[in-house]
Amino acid sequence: MSKIILKNFLIFLLIFLVIAALFSTYNAKTEKPAEIGLEKLISQIENQEVKEIIVKNSNLEITLLNGQKEITKKESTDSLSTLLKNYNVDPAKIKQVKIDVKEDEGWSFWAVTILPILIPFIIIAAFIYLMMRQVQGANTKAMSFGQSQARELKQKGKDKITFKNVAGCKESKEELLEVVEFLQNPKKFLQLGAKIPKGVLLMGAPGTGKTLLAKAVAGEANVPFFSISGSEFVEMFVGVGASRVRDLFKRAKKSSPCIIFIDEIDAVGRQRGAGVGGSHDERKQTLNQILVEMDGMETKINVIVMAATNRPDILDPALLRPGRFDRRIVLDMPDIKDREEILKVHAENKPFSTDVDLRKVAERTPGFSGADLANVLNEGAIMAARRNKKSIEQLDILESIEKVLLGPERKSHILSEKERKITAFHEAGHALVAHELPNVDPVQKISIISRGHAAGYTLKLPLEDKHLHPRSEFIDELAVFLGGFVAEKEIFGEVTTGASNDLQQATKLAKSLITQYGMDDTLGARTFGEREELIFLGKEIHEQRDYSEKTSEMIDHQISALITQAQKTAKDILLKNKVQLEKIVSVLLEKETLERGDFEALFTK
Ligand code: ADP
Ligand code: ZN
Repeated sequence: MSKIILKNFLIFLLIFLVIAALFSTYNAKTEKPAEIGLEKLISQIENQEVKEIIVKNSNLEITLLNGQKEITKKESTDSLSTLLKNYNVDPAKIKQVKIDVKEDEGWSFWAVTILPILIPFIIIAAFIYLMMRQVQGANTKAMSFGQSQARELKQKGKDKITFKNVAGCKESKEELLEVVEFLQNPKKFLQLGAKIPKGVLLMGAPGTGKTLLAKAVAGEANVPFFSISGSEFVEMFVGVGASRVRDLFKRAKKSSPCIIFIDEIDAVGRQRGAGVGGSHDERKQTLNQILVEMDGMETKINVIVMAATNRPDILDPALLRPGRFDRRIVLDMPDIKDREEILKVHAENKPFSTDVDLRKVAERTPGFSGADLANVLNEGAIMAARRNKKSIEQLDILESIEKVLLGPERKSHILSEKERKITAFHEAGHALVAHELPNVDPVQKISIISRGHAAGYTLKLPLEDKHLHPRSEFIDELAVFLGGFVAEKEIFGEVTTGASNDLQQATKLAKSLITQYGMDDTLGARTFGEREELIFLGKEIHEQRDYSEKTSEMIDHQISALITQAQKTAKDILLKNKVQLEKIVSVLLEKETLERGDFEALFTK
């Protein structure tokens, strides 16, 4: 940055030098006339030596009959003629002199006298200006600060996003079809006195397709789509957000009918007092401006505002009032059928080998959002390309599921022989306990290839999506969490840090069981702790205690009891099935991964 300043400064210096040089040569060319006093001029007039006098304000330029030039000065208040009269010069002699009064002194005079004074000021001013620009970020952003940064998307031809590109979400699409009709044919509704909704709020977890759906509405209706993110409104300076909102609506109104899409509206439309960080005034002003613009929009103007949030619970109620975002659409995480359909949408344009079964992929991806699924297929394609295949195979896709879920395999992260053995027993412990307990999802895969932070992993997957979870399931789940810990302890006599994550999860689950689900008989059917979520880094949870010290002790006690019980269950299973455990371990050490089929086969022999 300082380089730029230096460069600019050098350029200015150069220009200055050039100008100075020009003037000095100019001055050199004009011969310097002799300066004389007024008395001399008067005597020259009386001697009839003077041919011409040019008066420029107080300067007198005299040309003598012999061609010589002189200059002199007079008081600027008196005219030359009164001056001469005062000196009692013979009027007849004055008449012989040609007197010329010039008001304008010519640019060169000014340039020569004033520029040298001015140039340092110009340089200083330019310098300050440049410095300010550097400070404001060295880019042209400084100039367009208050303008909206909304991107306009004009969809046309093949790239147009329509409802066809959105898999699942059947109800949402039906509701939005209405909006499409409003945009296409507003008269139909206005004639019947219906008020066209101005705002649609899309609610759903990240990656569930909110942006996609809004774009599809614009595509279906064939209207422009302006998108901006709530966080972009919020700048450091109060008032910028509001001015951006104004600008955005102005632009949108010009190209009506159209859609304005505001992503992450919770960034501006957060409830009072909720959350930390960000200037509160700025957010409030921005939000108010959005509301003002929406309220002020005439029904004739066909602009529909769609906003997305994954935190509807923290939205300012003002946003939800009638006439504002009164249409609300919830996007759920896709269930198995939707997942298959989303996969199909993203499978277009990808060459698949015949063994690919998208249903199986959907089965293996509970809890994946649309974005995750799109990512899985993309990673699968990358995987196949790196293996120099012509088409994508099922194996590529299954491996990319784990990559999306757990991070890439770390083959370079080589475990020592001892570590491999510990990891194998640990994972086999999880898998065996999971296999023996009735209320646990079947084991899909066991691996001792490290991934992300985990040394190995055991993947369990439900056969179908579940919405309700009974207590028995949690109890068995706890035992599975402890399977790894117990295996390490029984086989090697001590545990490693590899089990710490399992213990954390087990403790969390045991706690939820007691404090949130009311599943502990001694503590009873109530919740403990009032949960207040702080919007700080998205998920920090602040818990307020609404129970006594004694209860707190009881909760602690019961958590430990649940975990001790789980540990005992796991230990019993492992000791009873030690042969199976050894079998699993030996296969793991040999092959590193074990798929569901091979795992089940170990038990039938
Ligand atoms: P959000 O705005 O809810 O965070 P996006 O709309 O940006 O999510 O979705 C990200 C990507 O996920 C989309 O571009 C699309 O590729 C994919 N996706 C999400 N949901 C679906 C769906 N229902 N059908 C097809 N693709 C989807
Ligand atoms: Zn583990």
